Amino acid sequence: MSTATTPLVSEMIIGDEILTGASGPSLTHHYAATGEPNGEVPLGGTPEVQAAVAAAKAALPVWEKLGPVERRNRLARLADIVESWTDRFEAIASAETGMPRQGFAWRVKLSCEWIRTYVGYADKVGGDLTASADDGSLEYTRLEPYGVVGIIITWNSPLLSLCMKIPAALAAGNTIVVKPSELTPYTPALFGRACLEAGIPPGVVNIVVGGAEAGEALTVHPDVEKISFTGGLTTAAAMMRSGAPLVKPFCFELGGKSAYIIFPDADIDLAVSLASKEMSNAGQSCKFGSRIFVHDAVYAEYQATLHAAIGKVVVGDPEDTGTTMGPLITAGAQERVLGFVEGARDRGDGKILIGGGAPTLAAPFAGGYFVNPTVFEDVDPASPLGQEEIFGPVFGMFRFTDEEAMTELVNSTKFGLSNYVHTRDLRTATRMVHRLKSGTVYVNDANRRNPGAPFGGFRASGIGSEGGRRGLEEFLRAKTVGLA
Ligand code: NAD
Repeated sequence: MSTATTPLVSEMIIGDEILTGASGPSLTHHYAATGEPNGEVPLGGTPEVQAAVAAAKAALPVWEKLGPVERRNRLARLADIVESWTDRFEAIASAETGMPRQGFAWRVKLSCEWIRTYVGYADKVGGDLTASADDGSLEYTRLEPYGVVGIIITWNSPLLSLCMKIPAALAAGNTIVVKPSELTPYTPALFGRACLEAGIPPGVVNIVVGGAEAGEALTVHPDVEKISFTGGLTTAAAMMRSGAPLVKPFCFELGGKSAYIIFPDADIDLAVSLASKEMSNAGQSCKFGSRIFVHDAVYAEYQATLHAAIGKVVVGDPEDTGTTMGPLITAGAQERVLGFVEGARDRGDGKILIGGGAPTLAAPFAGGYFVNPTVFEDVDPASPLGQEEIFGPVFGMFRFTDEEAMTELVNSTKFGLSNYVHTRDLRTATRMVHRLKSGTVYVNDANRRNPGAPFGGFRASGIGSEGGRRGLEEFLRAKTVGLA
């Protein structure tokens, strides 16, 4: 059992039924900090997906009939309920992911901000008057919901991932089948109950816990008109292939290989503190800046400051308020990241400045899936360490003198999610903003996930956006109407 006290309940919500069993096998969920079992997670598959899509289809006219104002009101109630359940969401997420408890309060707050952003949009969907001739003819566009949409998400920030998609889809007038990660089934179950409590009619939000089979069943279902997905590139490519016969539209929020760029005039303490804070989720964040490009003139200072900051990262019990970094999500993830570090060291792709390997912790954490925060220096930019997403607490440092060559290297991976520029010079900042190929660029700042601004990736980091009006429009399609 987890050392966290909250009972973990894996449920599916399909129409007006709350189910604790499933057609598929069970998955044993482990508490990542100890490796001990948390409980069994029954996995749904094609039968549950079919029932959930049918429920979502049946609920479409109900949700439509409520109209924009009442849909807005129920979303507003949802935000209030999620906020009032902050303690429950915090405790569950910490127990199901192993992320330090202190990292969750702001995540619940931010999740509520995302819901409230789409409360604001729900009664302002709008459209355009495209042409209106003098003869009295009229042409306009209606923005319409797709109908039933599928939402498939990963595990690294379960509540925020739900809130970056579901409120926008509901505000646009769609009904939903959510397929959360099988590794984090507990937060979505509680969120589904919050939706019902908020008066969102049964069938509008359905939750099917399952693995790849359930995700595939949702992707190929002919009544699912669009899929919004957060996860890995390989899965996205497989989904595109499965969806091809029906040219299924996708919004993809995928991985990254983001970079910090430290110019000679940077505030080094700020730059290091923003980078090391990213360790809180053990590097398991899509926007994690796993590459650090440091100008030669400040390399020694940055290196010493980063070394000191990483040395202060406290790895251990997620429930302890002093802990700043928890475990990885599964034993498999721990093995993969440790293998990545060992492979890079053995091949000489870089040399370890600090970290490497797993920490030795006392019981009950000895069997947890921890990896030491690790920094490599002199990294070969063409190596896996320089190119691939590690999804673990591993930084690679690169030294630069020439801005052109550095920019080319930053842009040299297949990804394009986020980049972080550190300089006090406005011209340097704007020049870099224009040249970097990524969906977000932050200057002297970290990625804020502001719900009013679009967040999305270029290239292999994704298609489409979450956040703001663009995030709403992901769930709308335009119909042009001509009146002669
Ligand atoms: P994953 O692709 O393995 O799994 C994501 C989801 O897809 C899970 O729910 C999984 O069950 C489901 N799935 C698996 N196979 C499927 C299939 N064939 N058809 C349909 N669904 C299927 O990814 P992961 O390892 O859980 O997540 C890590 C990845 O997510 C990283 O690359 C990370 O960068 C990315 N991510 C991106 C963002 C973003 O906003 N851009 C945010 C968080 C995580």
